[in-house]
Amino acid sequence: MARLCSACLLGVRCRYDGQSKANDRVLKIAQKEMLIPVCPEQLGGLPTPRTEAERRGDRVVTKDGNDVTVQFTRGAEETLRIAKQYDVIGAILKQRSPSCGCGQVYDGTFVGHVVRGDGVTTELLKKHGISVVSEEDL
Ligand code: SF4
Repeated sequence: MARLCSACLLGVRCRYDGQSKANDRVLKIAQKEMLIPVCPEQLGGLPTPRTEAERRGDRVVTKDGNDVTVQFTRGAEETLRIAKQYDVIGAILKQRSPSCGCGQVYDGTFVGHVVRGDGVTTELLKKHGISVVSEEDL
């Protein structure tokens, strides 16, 4: 039995700025159970580092105005494929990310405003009955 986990929470330097977001609680869980690291933005074909992006309604846009919805959607689909392949029991994903956010995301204005909503990957996983929690819910 395994869960998916945002790779950045496990210490992988896959974030847009080339850094990780290692989380102590997540690392502790990883010592006891199988967490499968995924980075939907990399799985969608985006480079690291990459330009910061936020959800804006149904779209995802970068800070410099490019529409990256296609890459984010592809990353979500690839993550779902992995989830099904390993028959995961859930996922721990990084709060407020435009891919991984769970219940909270930035609003697309790039000034730090948070609104209710899910990242693109979280939304797709939930649609397919996969339970998602953020590292802040642990
Ligand atoms: Fe972390 Fe998810 Fe962003 Fe990848 S897409 S860097 S896993 S929050």
